[in-house]
Amino acid sequence: MYTFERMMKQPPILKWFTNIQATEPLCKGLNFDAFLIKPVQRIPRYKLFIDRLVKCTPENDIDFPKLPLALEKCDQIANIINQAKEKQIQQENMSKTAARLDCGTELLMVPGRSFVKDSQIDKITRKSKKQPRCLFLFTDVLMVATPTIKEKHTVQVKFQLKGSEVKDLPDDTEKGFSNLFQFLSYPKSLELSASSKEEKAEWIRLLQFHIQEANKSIGGEKIKIIPIFEPDSKVKKCPLCDEKFTAIFRRHHCRQCRRVVCGNCTKHKRKLPSQSSGERKKRVCDDCWKHDENWTPEGISHSQNPLSPRDNSSSDEDS
Ligand SMILES: [Zn+2]
Ligand SMILES: [Zn+2]
Repeated sequence: MYTFERMMKQPPILKWFTNIQATEPLCKGLNFDAFLIKPVQRIPRYKLFIDRLVKCTPENDIDFPKLPLALEKCDQIANIINQAKEKQIQQENMSKTAARLDCGTELLMVPGRSFVKDSQIDKITRKSKKQPRCLFLFTDVLMVATPTIKEKHTVQVKFQLKGSEVKDLPDDTEKGFSNLFQFLSYPKSLELSASSKEEKAEWIRLLQFHIQEANKSIGGEKIKIIPIFEPDSKVKKCPLCDEKFTAIFRRHHCRQCRRVVCGNCTKHKRKLPSQSSGERKKRVCDDCWKHDENWTPEGISHSQNPLSPRDNSSSDEDS
């Protein structure tokens, strides 16, 4: 096919070939491409034909025993063609998606990875603000990117689906957030608000399905789910010193247990396992400081799996 295309770029050959196609009665006005595709298009027809033949052939006919085998072969070939088509569509989807993300080649290089869905969604921050994001779901990873008018989206975080969890949430009527759900993973977890009820249901269904599939796969590191940051508005006083928060006595987040605590109770800083080597130490509460960096208080940790080294970058909204 490549040789044919290359030769057709030479005007004399193209002219000669086109002339034959147009004038030769055997070509029946069909061009070369149409002839190539013919045998493939015929496969479903062969199947119908043999099906009919089975019904019309007497059982004592010498050819009768061969017909089921012919039918089976036809089925096999049809399946191979369908799979090849499917694969081609998948590859095209991957190339199109990769062209929209700033991590294109890495995306394509992973064997067995295919594109599932992408859409815009709002991320709910711990300060209860909406931030527009683009989710790109693949069969083994979820990528979160910032929407852009430029050609390529910048991927902010890449989550491994294996070991991740999805949690359905009721609407938050007080703050006016609807279609909420959580994606719990590593190196962080997200609270998301879909654009409609249907969109939320679709995301939950697809995420659950592909997480389940990913969990069946061998290999890949186990992850420890990092809890969602506790929303500021839910905490009226510091859980460690019991002091009430005010406009001056402000809330801070412990980066380890993700709870809201006061400044006095989060004086220490340490490097957390979810941080990359270049990052600065993060603020942790006195509770966490008394323990090692893998500790989380009772009832906050979602999973006790061993930690995996972080392989991507994430940005935090405040420090
Ligand atoms: Zn405190
Ligand atoms: Zn803590």
